[in-house]
Amino acid sequence: MTILMPQPDAAIIARRNEIVTALRAIVPGEGVISSEPEMLPYESDGLMAYRQPPMVVVLPETTEQVSRVLKYCFEQRIKVVPRGSGTSLSGGALPLADGVLLGLGKFKRIREIDFDNRVVVTEPGVTNLALSQAVAHAGFYYAPDPSSQIACSIGGNVAENSGGVHCLKYGMTTNNVLGCEIVLMTGEVLRIGGKAAENAGYDLMGIITGSEGLLGVVTEVTVRILQKPETARAMMVGFAEVEAAGECVARIIGAGIIPGGMEMMDKPAIHAAEAFVQAGYPLDVEALLIIELDGPSVEVDELINRVETIAQGCGSTSCRISTSEAERNLFWAGRKAAFPAVGRISPDYLCMDGTIPRGKLPQALARIRELSDKYGLRCANVFHAGDGNLHPLILYDANQPDEMERAEAFGADILRCCVELGGVLTGEHGVGIEKRDLMPEMFSDIDLNQQQRLKCAFDAQGLLNPGKVFPTLHRCAELGRMHVHAGKLAFPELPRF
Ligand SMILES: Cc1cc2nc3c(=O)[nH]c(=O)nc-3n(C[C@H](O)[C@H](O)[C@H](O)COP(=O)(O)OP(=O)(O)OC[C@H]3O[C@@H](n4cnc5c(N)ncnc54)[C@H](O)[C@@H]3O)c2cc1C
Repeated sequence: MTILMPQPDAAIIARRNEIVTALRAIVPGEGVISSEPEMLPYESDGLMAYRQPPMVVVLPETTEQVSRVLKYCFEQRIKVVPRGSGTSLSGGALPLADGVLLGLGKFKRIREIDFDNRVVVTEPGVTNLALSQAVAHAGFYYAPDPSSQIACSIGGNVAENSGGVHCLKYGMTTNNVLGCEIVLMTGEVLRIGGKAAENAGYDLMGIITGSEGLLGVVTEVTVRILQKPETARAMMVGFAEVEAAGECVARIIGAGIIPGGMEMMDKPAIHAAEAFVQAGYPLDVEALLIIELDGPSVEVDELINRVETIAQGCGSTSCRISTSEAERNLFWAGRKAAFPAVGRISPDYLCMDGTIPRGKLPQALARIRELSDKYGLRCANVFHAGDGNLHPLILYDANQPDEMERAEAFGADILRCCVELGGVLTGEHGVGIEKRDLMPEMFSDIDLNQQQRLKCAFDAQGLLNPGKVFPTLHRCAELGRMHVHAGKLAFPELPRF
């Protein structure tokens, strides 16, 4: 069947050509991509159910070029979507048909490694893993370690306030970033923080971290690096019931032990990961905890004994303790590959990301099981258990009628459940377009308006990444006059494939 696409009229084509020519003058050479086939890799991010080719892709290499691109777009009132590596699972980097996609992929240089001050100054396109690799020879690493660390960029990590298995003890991105350079929509360049841990004035770094590309474009980041602990050993503890594993997590934290990482997987996730990675996971358990203890070796030995005793008290059915670095990495390999592992057993999956108070894990899991029956869709669960951050992976087949809609409704109910249990809509993947319309479940109109006023202080015309995060974006002038009304969605129609 031939699908006839509506043809843009001559005025739109002429306007687009004019914009492409202006951008080429700012970023010469191969820095502007405007042909449809070449723009294909940019039409989606990690939330692949949504796709939208951008008007044009621009790939600057310097802060000055970013500044000139944004200034031009500001003056011409053109929307801009910043993009790092495009691994966002909430659709934050989804392009707009009438917007410029500003890719930071060419910002690939680590500018300074300062071991004396234990900081690295880097460009935003450097991957999370490359940062740790660059300082590994001196026994250092960058602590936040998203499972996507081989691909995701530091700029994207800042924009999403990303986390990982080691964030329980060492903090999220926000706790490990000391400063940044951002370019505002007007083209002005703002430097925030630096190598010093404390800065006077408002905590702008805290505001930029997690701002999902709505406030400015990050062109340089200063991060804290840590010395690798003397010893790190991982335990793999199996349970016959998910509730017992949840209880074990609560008791470990309650005993004052903060492991380097504490992750949980349920049976479907264990089986998928084991089939993919052969990490040696037990297949006869309902829940598996992977717990890493790190520090001086005497302390680690002592903590392992204490955790083992706590786990036995909760009815653990198996326990293995890593005896080498290779084995520790193997224990983690299955957990870190859990998402692609689930991708092997289902044509499609939705990865949810809600957070609950740790003690509410059994209730949340029971509710997810009920919802799985209600929607007739399977669900595999992996959690940053120590943080109460759930990642239910909803399995569906987009080629089956209604399955995509059912999966989305299932996911929305899980997030509502997280809020009802006293948790929040996102632990680390951001709001983007995925959770945008659920924001009122958690925030009042007053909350949302105040957040939007902050957006207006950075981007008064609402040109930077519009349609993300806020269910209804009021014009800044309206907010200034406190004129509040229930408006239309800013981004109502999203093409799905
Ligand atoms: C298999 C898989 C596993 C994952 N595991 C984790 C995990 O364990 N923990 C976790 O937290 N996340 C995880 N993620 C989600 C994702 O990797 C993170 O959100 C990551 O930080 C996104 O980085 P990116 O460079 O790909 O950003 P993109 O996807 O390109 O963009 C994400 C958002 O950041 C904005 N942005 C990007 N760069 C900039 C910049 N320089 N300036 C301003 N705004 C910018 C974009 O506009 C967008 O809103 C996972 C994703 C996948 C696919």
